[in-house]
Amino acid sequence: MTSAAKISSLDTSACPLCGQPNQCAISAGLPPESCWCMQTPVSQDALARLPAEARGKACICPACAQPHPGNPTHSRP
Ligand SMILES: [Zn+2]
Repeated sequence: MTSAAKISSLDTSACPLCGQPNQCAISAGLPPESCWCMQTPVSQDALARLPAEARGKACICPACAQPHPGNPTHSRP
């Protein structure tokens, strides 16, 4: 008899966009003010790409929080 492995629908310690560890202080049990996101502005474009079920629950990682250089979203030729 094997117990089925439970796959958590949402891993709050992983970035919902890329699946890498998001380094969120809150998910690590540290004070929220020590989190990187308090010093780093999070791209609105990245937040807009978050799946609805992850919003307000899982943090994204520092890499995804940065606006993509060389890929401007609002300047079209
Ligand atoms: Zn990420």
